Parts: sequence; structure tokens; C-alpha cells
Amino acid sequence: MELSQRITQITGGGSGGWDLFFRARALKDAGAPIIELTVGEHDIRTSTDILEAMHNAARSGHTGYAAIPGTEGLRAAVAARITAQSGVPTSARNVTITPGGQSALYASHLAVLDTGDTGLFIDPYYATYPGTIRAVGGIPHTVPADAGRGFQPRGADIDAAAKATRAKSLLVNSPNNPTGAVYARDSLRDIAQTCIANDMWLISDEVYDSQVWEGTHISPRALPDMAQRTLVVGSMSKSHAMTGSRVGWVCGPEDVIDYLITLSTHTTYGVPGYIQDAATYALGQGQRVEEQVAAPFRRRRALTQKLLAQQNVVHAAPIQGAMYVMLDIRATGMTGEEFGDALLDAEQIAVMPGESFGAAAAGHIRVAMTVDDDAYVDAITRLLGFAARLATGAPA
Ligand code: PMP
Repeated sequence: MELSQRITQITGGGSGGWDLFFRARALKDAGAPIIELTVGEHDIRTSTDILEAMHNAARSGHTGYAAIPGTEGLRAAVAARITAQSGVPTSARNVTITPGGQSALYASHLAVLDTGDTGLFIDPYYATYPGTIRAVGGIPHTVPADAGRGFQPRGADIDAAAKATRAKSLLVNSPNNPTGAVYARDSLRDIAQTCIANDMWLISDEVYDSQVWEGTHISPRALPDMAQRTLVVGSMSKSHAMTGSRVGWVCGPEDVIDYLITLSTHTTYGVPGYIQDAATYALGQGQRVEEQVAAPFRRRRALTQKLLAQQNVVHAAPIQGAMYVMLDIRATGMTGEEFGDALLDAEQIAVMPGESFGAAAAGHIRVAMTVDDDAYVDAITRLLGFAARLATGAPA
């Protein structure tokens, strides 16, 4: 029996650049001491008080169907966080709860793209973006952001792509996975102006908004005339180490949120009530908790900068936010894929090749700062030593 084009073409055919990741996992499963700096997941688990809130909610009976839009309590807590952070007055009616940010990305694109419409996004990009756009029947189209500009996108490039493709939407992500860039006010102003000039929706993936090391996180929804054309994607995954709980949100104009609630009725039927109660509890603990969850990455970012300063073969893109470091390894004469493969064989360290995040990240590798400090310093020291040997032609 034939399946739909839509489901068989989600990945567009390739492995999505995950070959190295799967090879490292297989080696690890076979007992090799691989250090994985690959996936964006904390090395700590969800805190016990959040788990207790979850347990208590379940024990007290919140195990039936939960409110499909999200519980009033959680919608209000998310709205309050967004108001405080962005300055844009936001009510519970501007928010709907989804099973994680990924589901929010899917729902947002489904809301604004019809079959055959183009959805723009910035290259380098988070691995699921093109597939998410294809999954709603859209055509993914990248706009490159150059390493030479610290991976900040340029308004003129977005404008040209928007005009060439008559795109209906633009997806941006700041703080950025995989580059670690935090978009500057100028970049965001250009993005906003381009969206307005080309009558595009802006989908702003802000799941790393609690992980800012340099600069300020600005939500483009707060820029003039943007609230009515911006859908913000958020999540508890990164801010509260709740990746497995699958709880996130879309924030946008009330009429869009109403349609997204209809979509949830016909797809997910909501998020478990005890998970929502745990998320409400977690948000109620305030920003200090988010800073605690972010602290190990802030520390490892400083450790990375210290190690990088002691050599001049490998160069990092500005490490401004999120749990990743994008390293330029072109001085070794290798591609990111070649370097990643060789590093895994020589040092048993797994990283992600830049190429798996798009052509704009070629010649780079992405390091996730997701192992404990000692293991992290050891891995980066060995990685830099390996690169130095390659660059000087010494035996690697
Ligand atoms: N956006 C970006 C940029 C991400 O890196 C991730 C997860 N790695 C997500 C969205 C989705 O996260 P979740 O579904 O866990 O909220």
C-alpha cells in the first residue's frame, strides 16, 4: 500500500547528518568509553521538588483528561513569565500548552503554511526544522547566516529569499542551537522589518531563553507591530531540565491560539494534567531556579573560553547562549564530518559535524557542554590537542 508523500518525505531522504551520532552510540552501547558531546540534554535530571509536585498532582487525582488548551494555572504562569521577560502584556488567552517545543513548532507552522507554501529558516539550523516544515506540507527554504558575522542573519538575505520564494513564514531561534549566537537588537530589528515588508509570519523559537551568557535575549514579539504576526515557541525542557516531560507552549494572537486549541483537540488532546501541574509549580519557583539549571553551562562556557585562549588553531563562534559551542576547525584542513569521524576514532570523543546543521556550518563542529566539568575539560583539551596535531601535520 502506498503511503502519503507527506509522511515518507519528512526527512527529505538523508540521515539528517546523524551518522556520526549513531556510530558513537553504537560504540558506547558496545562498551567503549565514548564521551558524548552530541545531544542537547542536561547532565542533571529534573529536580526532586518538581517531581514531588508531579507525584502529588497525580496522587490527588489529576490523571484524567486535562484541559486541552492547557490548565488555567499553567497558561497564566507562562503568560506571566512572557510578560515579565518581554514587556509585552500577555494573558492566558495568548498561550496554549503543547507536548514540548517540538510540537509547538509543528503546530505553529501548520497554523501559517498551506500545502506548497514556503517556510524560511536560518542556516545553521536545529536539525528538525526542515522536516517540521515538510510535515505540514510546506517547502523548507534556508537563509544562510555566515560564520564571519558570528552567525547573525542579515535582513537583506532574508528579504531576497522572501521575495524569491513568496515565503509565508520565517522561523528564527535565539539563543541559537547549534551556533550559540544570541541575536543582536539590530539583527532582530531587520528580521522584524523584513517580516512586515513581505507580510510574513515570524515563528520565534525561544526554548533557550534562560541560557544567555552574553548580550540580552530580546523576544522579537516585543518589537513594534510584531505581536500580531509573531508566534513564540517555548518549552520547559531546557529551562527546567524537563526534556522528558514534554511540556511547552505557543504564545501568539488570541485568534491563532484558538485555532491551535482546535488543532490540539484533533491531534494531541492536550498534555497530562500532572505534568502541567509540575510545570506550574516549577514556573512558580521563579527565575532563580532557571539560573541554577543554566549554571553548569555558564561555567563550562567559561572553561571553554579559557582552553581556547591557550591555542590558535580552533576558533569559536561567539559563545553567547544555549548549551553549545560552535568550533571552526578549518585550520585542520578537514570538513566537520571528517574531523568528527577522526576525533571519534582517535580520542573516543563524539561531537556533531557542523554540516549536519546546514551548509553555513561547514568546516565546524558543534560541541554540547553536557558532561560534568572534569570530563568536559578533559574532552576539550584532547580535542584541541588533536586539532593542533592535524594542523601541524604531526601524527594525530
Ligand atoms: N528548538 C530547539 C532549537 C531545540 O534545540 C529543541 C530541542 N533540542 C527544541 C526546539 C525542542 O525541544 P522540546 O520539544 O524538548 O521542547
